Amino acid sequence: MTVTHTLAGSEPGDARGRAPLEPPASPRAVPEALLRGARGLCPACGAGRLFSSYLKVSPYCPDCDEELYHHRADDAPPYATILLVGHIVVPLMVLVEEMYRPEVWVHLVLWLPLTLALCLSLLPPLKGMLVNLQWALRMHGFDPQSAEREGPPDGVVPVVRAVRPIR
Ligand SMILES: [Zn+2]
Repeated sequence: MTVTHTLAGSEPGDARGRAPLEPPASPRAVPEALLRGARGLCPACGAGRLFSSYLKVSPYCPDCDEELYHHRADDAPPYATILLVGHIVVPLMVLVEEMYRPEVWVHLVLWLPLTLALCLSLLPPLKGMLVNLQWALRMHGFDPQSAEREGPPDGVVPVVRAVRPIR
């Protein structure tokens, strides 16, 4: 079934001169986008790398040219990382303390490296999941019809390809 959002007799605009309504955007699968984000992959194609460095999101997907600069992850990835790592490390620390009563230096040797390793390894996948979730939910500029939609950031040249491969 095809649903059209154009009022009869309203082409190209209605009697008040408004532009015809855009067709509804196709839904984007949230679970698939989250899985791709956890692997650091583009939410749209699942092939291009989401990050250009450790935590820097590429402005465009290098594979499908999807605009990725619309994300507003801000401090949500560190927040999610702290929340998750805290729920892993603190119970372990309490358990070891209750079972073995080790010296303080043993705690330091155990938990500081573990906390650091967990934070550094979980931050990229959690950030990828949050960026891809924003894409899947068409938040911010990821919705082509959004008023929040902006052009590329300064210094970023939009990708223009003469011929786009058919997938
Ligand atoms: Zn892509």
